[in-house]
Amino acid sequence: MATLSDLQPAIVFKYFQELCNIPHGSGNIRAISDYLCSFAEEQGLRFVQDEAGNVIIYKPASVAGSEAGDSKEPLILQAHMDMVAVSVDDRDMTAVPIVPLIDGDHIYADGTSLGGDDGVGVAYIMAILASDDLVHPPIEAVITTDEETGMDGARALDPALLSGRRMINLDSEEEGHILAGCAGGVRVYISHDFGNVEPASGRVIRMDIYGCAGGHSGNEIHKRGANANVIAGVLLGKLCSVCDTRLIYISGGEVDNAIPKVAYLIAAVNGDITNEDLSLEISKTMDEIISRYSGSDPGMRIDMNIINSNGLHNAAETFNDRCMLSSAATREIADMFNDLPNGVIAMSPDVEGLVETSLNLGVITFEETKIKLQYSVRSSIEDDKAALIGRLRDIAEKAGAVTEVNGDYPGWKYRKDSKLRDCLEKVYRDMYGKEAVTEAIHAGLECGFFSKALPGLDCVSIGPDMQDIHTTSERLSISSTARSWDYLCRVLAELC
Ligand SMILES: [Zn+2]
Repeated sequence: MATLSDLQPAIVFKYFQELCNIPHGSGNIRAISDYLCSFAEEQGLRFVQDEAGNVIIYKPASVAGSEAGDSKEPLILQAHMDMVAVSVDDRDMTAVPIVPLIDGDHIYADGTSLGGDDGVGVAYIMAILASDDLVHPPIEAVITTDEETGMDGARALDPALLSGRRMINLDSEEEGHILAGCAGGVRVYISHDFGNVEPASGRVIRMDIYGCAGGHSGNEIHKRGANANVIAGVLLGKLCSVCDTRLIYISGGEVDNAIPKVAYLIAAVNGDITNEDLSLEISKTMDEIISRYSGSDPGMRIDMNIINSNGLHNAAETFNDRCMLSSAATREIADMFNDLPNGVIAMSPDVEGLVETSLNLGVITFEETKIKLQYSVRSSIEDDKAALIGRLRDIAEKAGAVTEVNGDYPGWKYRKDSKLRDCLEKVYRDMYGKEAVTEAIHAGLECGFFSKALPGLDCVSIGPDMQDIHTTSERLSISSTARSWDYLCRVLAELC
């Protein structure tokens, strides 16, 4: 059976195999960081290992072996050393190596994620640093830690270690695509503690929203699909408008950066309205919602159950330890839901089809007397991100809720003029006789931290074809890895 040592370019796959041998899931980066330092030492290259474990390695310019002096502008090459380490059988990923296997044109790992993201980027950098037959400008190689769990390495990096103002990030997953911008983001929590509850009484209505398409809150927010949490809020508002409603429970979603597929709410309803009329009123709203999302979320369903009319008894039986908020508090929550924005806020004026600013109500939790909403807010414009956070804070305050913000990371604004991007586009055209796809994404990359820390930075992100990253089905294309290596080497020569 073929192994990585049979593959070309041999030097790239040699280093990729060495990386696989050292467990390097996020949070477990000491060994891989030390390995990179030993590598630099062996190569006789100057390096720095900082407190966060980031490794910066410096290599002078080279004209096919002879040092060309350092008159040229340095080029930063950047990748991250950590990976999302998952296995099919809960094995201890801090103890076992990755075992890469070959299937046709693909490398995958035996029962685990492969770590092509971003091991192949690190392997490219090592191959460049170790080769003496390449033509390249002075290199400042930056290999960061813990990208996958909050970009902690990039966050902690001292910009004084870098003099370059042009950078190629090697953490993309699609050959022929040149990334030229990304969004910044932040998590925003809105919580409201009502303090007072009373035992649930009256008829009880339960509404379930499920089967929404979901998706990544950055990459898929432009589809303007259904957000189950937002729909739960709309339905609560509708209930409040037709009868006296007291919220018992509301919940939905799992993480802030996924569009929630499922949510549900339970409320006590009082007043003269019959079950039939209540059903009729709510069904109208349900039908409107379902038809509105029939294109984006054909599988979406909403179930409504009014848990019997002799209310009290059944309610106590079903929710015997449940309490309910007052109708005023319920109304306050419904109004807050109604006021809070969600989804796409603005599209980019520079890049067609690119979302510039958005937010996603990813999670609703309800504990005793406290409701908590968790948002992922994104924008490629820092001021717009701050403005949206301010808007959320104002709405929350008006409703008597408290706002908390964490996990802030900066965006990387698309530059209309970029010499570096022009160079990469030209080399691609020369090699393949067609145009590369230049694009910006509405998700986070470490380039945002570098753009913020290094004013005027000219930056791109590229990488070979990978599929299903962050999962045990992760695959890396061998031929694409080889082509992307040739491409990268041509780009380096062109940048001299
Ligand atoms: Zn990555």
